[in-house]
Amino acid sequence: MTEYQALRRDGTSWTPMFIEHLEAETCIGCGRCYKVCNHDVLALMGKTEDGELVDADDDEVERMIMTIADKGRCVGCEACLLVCGSHSIKMIPAAEAFAA
Ligand code: SF4
Ligand code: SF4
Repeated sequence: MTEYQALRRDGTSWTPMFIEHLEAETCIGCGRCYKVCNHDVLALMGKTEDGELVDADDDEVERMIMTIADKGRCVGCEACLLVCGSHSIKMIPAAEAFAA
């Protein structure tokens, strides 16, 4: 598998880690990941008693959860992972993401 590296300003390299999965069962909908992501990857949704995903302002919402709206916009910075206290976010390295 080809290794993909990104460059820091000082020319040293690092491996981007892209968001792959967000675990709905453990996410508490706190919004911390959303606040630190500047790339329109995540979307706060509502979940009904029946487990259906609906708009966050829907009357049937029982609890809020974060979802991945557009995985393709992730730049691999890992900021969302670092702020998630419930360990609900799974990342994969760039090489694995590009191979999928
Ligand atoms: S890794 Fe960075 S760009 Fe990707 S979803 Fe998390 S905060 Fe957004
Ligand atoms: S930071 Fe974690 S618990 Fe909070 S909304 Fe994001 S994924 Fe869910």
